[in-house]
Amino acid sequence: MSHPVYGRIDGPIVIIGFGSIGRGTLPLIERHFDYDADQLVVIEPSEDVANFLHQHKIRHLKTAITRDNYRQVLGGIFSQGKGFCVNLSVDTSSLDILRLCRELGVLYIDTVVEPWAGFYFETTDNEARTNYALRQKVRDEKAANPGGATAVSCCGANPGMVSWFVKEALMTLSRDLGRDDAMPASREGWAALMQALGVKGVHIAERDTQARRTPRPRGTFVNTWSVEGFISEGFQPAELGWGTHETWFPDNGHSHQTGCRAGIWLERPGAITRIHTWCPTPGPQFGFLVTHNEAISISDYYTVGAPEAPDFRPTCHYAYHPCDDAVLSLHEMFGSGRQQSDHHILAPDEIVEGIDELGVLLFGHAKNALWYGSRLSNAQAMRLAPSQNATGLQVTSAVLAGMVWALENPQAGIVETDEMDHSRCLEVQRPYLGPVEAHYTDWTPLQDRWELFPEDIDESDPWQFRNVLAS
Ligand code: NAD
Repeated sequence: MSHPVYGRIDGPIVIIGFGSIGRGTLPLIERHFDYDADQLVVIEPSEDVANFLHQHKIRHLKTAITRDNYRQVLGGIFSQGKGFCVNLSVDTSSLDILRLCRELGVLYIDTVVEPWAGFYFETTDNEARTNYALRQKVRDEKAANPGGATAVSCCGANPGMVSWFVKEALMTLSRDLGRDDAMPASREGWAALMQALGVKGVHIAERDTQARRTPRPRGTFVNTWSVEGFISEGFQPAELGWGTHETWFPDNGHSHQTGCRAGIWLERPGAITRIHTWCPTPGPQFGFLVTHNEAISISDYYTVGAPEAPDFRPTCHYAYHPCDDAVLSLHEMFGSGRQQSDHHILAPDEIVEGIDELGVLLFGHAKNALWYGSRLSNAQAMRLAPSQNATGLQVTSAVLAGMVWALENPQAGIVETDEMDHSRCLEVQRPYLGPVEAHYTDWTPLQDRWELFPEDIDESDPWQFRNVLAS
């Protein structure tokens, strides 16, 4: 495999957080950018990575970025007003850091809208703990300060790459329906295309089958990416973009009175809210309705008409079946009422089988449902890039694509992945994604159900959220 160098980054490159995603992103930065090696800095409070960074002659700032020190620490490093800030840490405010970077004229990227430490567990106001609230603040910042230095918000696998897949899937569907629509050139054009194709909604449908040989030890939360990140989002309220085809409203549902109005939230943690969904490997499966930024951003982006009373908006949400060890970890955590103190992220060389199958399921149209996504195995990920499993590579290659796009578009202001050139981004990312495939299915949420007990379903429209939500 040849590794194109996409451009030169002048000034410092700062990676904040050197966990599973930071460790996987570093080799891709080394491969694909020209920069001064002595200008690369990793800010990571953990001592565990000190040896690795020392051996690789990479400057390590062993400190935690906080509300009190971020201006001083980052302002000092970026004093020349150039460079790239790659925020891959938990517990650091994406909004505050991207604001600072833009003030300084420095490029910025992250993979989630991360808040300062404390946000996830220190308030009982569930609406305030939603991703809707986190995202809306970034959108408000964009509206108040348009243009300027590029800051790419939420550019991992999901949120991130999946927004590029939605566009690929729409073009695929258009072709397969014999319409051959031209590629839209604006947000309005994309939204109109989705509406014209008859899409009612989108699941971000994922099945992670990566597994190691030994059983999960009791008392350890095992996952294929940040355990801390997954627990935090898993305890946020379940959330989804709320489509115009929905005729029912959940009893525990709440809509928002301000902002883009694209989403609703449920008075229940996402990681124990089960939904019916579909992926190529398992076929029908349960997923968890874990809240994610893209559920709101995709519903918002594809809205036709006024936000408060749209003509069209798709339902959109995550439908996540994490690796089996993570499912057991959730079961143990929610059952016991306490978080496990031991966390473990599966390393590529301990995984003995499995793939991360991550795609978008566009449903409700004339061909019923189309899954479009990456089916990357851990074995292939190990051949493609060092220091990461399949899940990690889907994320880090999206970070790479987002960085390339930002370098090529340095004055684009604050952008989400829906707003970027998906063809260019996937061109950069695709070599790292393994098989990227389109699968049609005749499955609907009304099929393959246990019929011994009556359920609250609507047989007139299989794609109602009422049918997707498992009782
Ligand atoms: P991780 O838990 O493996 O690593 C996080 C790292 O951040 C740790 O090494 C930790 O010591 C460090 N850290 C904690 N507080 C810090 C602070 N105040 N300042 C600097 N560093 C700090 O997590 P990960 O799997 O590498 O994930 C990193 C981020 O990426 C998380 O926010 C996660 O939610 C996000 N993520 C996004 C996607 C996506 O597809 N969009 C996928 C996976 C992870």
